[in-house]
Amino acid sequence: MDCGEDICEEAHIPKTIYKGGNEIPCPPSKQSIGRFGWGLLHTIAAHYPDDPSDDWKDKHQRFIHAFSRTFPCKSCGYHFHQMIKEKPPKLENREQISVWTCEMHNEINAMLNKPVFPCTLESLDLRWRKGKPPCTATINNL
Ligand SMILES: Cc1cc2nc3c(=O)[nH]c(=O)nc-3n(C[C@H](O)[C@H](O)[C@H](O)COP(=O)(O)OP(=O)(O)OC[C@H]3O[C@@H](n4cnc5c(N)ncnc54)[C@H](O)[C@@H]3O)c2cc1C
Repeated sequence: MDCGEDICEEAHIPKTIYKGGNEIPCPPSKQSIGRFGWGLLHTIAAHYPDDPSDDWKDKHQRFIHAFSRTFPCKSCGYHFHQMIKEKPPKLENREQISVWTCEMHNEINAMLNKPVFPCTLESLDLRWRKGKPPCTATINNL
């Protein structure tokens, strides 16, 4: 479905129901691409090395920049790119990049009037790495 914008809002997009009963927009909406995008960024950060090589840090830095420039919601990607310029990724270890990614996400959450997430490694690991509750439930209503 083409709404004439880079990526359409969820309200304009028909839903497909997949196994398990989840409704997923088809094609993906701005909101679902956002969810998938954050899922990828947080999950990569959750598996970042504790002691990365310079090559690893460089690759991650390039990935974040490429992500912001190729994200299909162009206004979101442009905004993210500006945020990265002001607060470049912290790449020294897993905790730094996990917390940095969380803080970036919280800036967007605040702009969209969504609740902010607790940016501790413990909360982030529960949500994005360990797969135990509250991974499948909620943390502070998120
Ligand atoms: C880089 C990027 C920039 C974006 N910019 C915009 C924009 O400018 N305008 C716009 O309308 N939309 C933007 N979006 C989309 C927006 O952020 C949401 O993804 C979208 O509105 C769907 O929101 P959601 O409520 O499903 O949860 P999402 O915000 O997508 O979050 C998904 C899940 O992540 C967890 N979570 C929430 N906050 C955090 C956090 N701080 N740290 C770790 N985990 C967390 C929660 O469990 C939540 O359910 C952007 C997305 C990305 C990836």
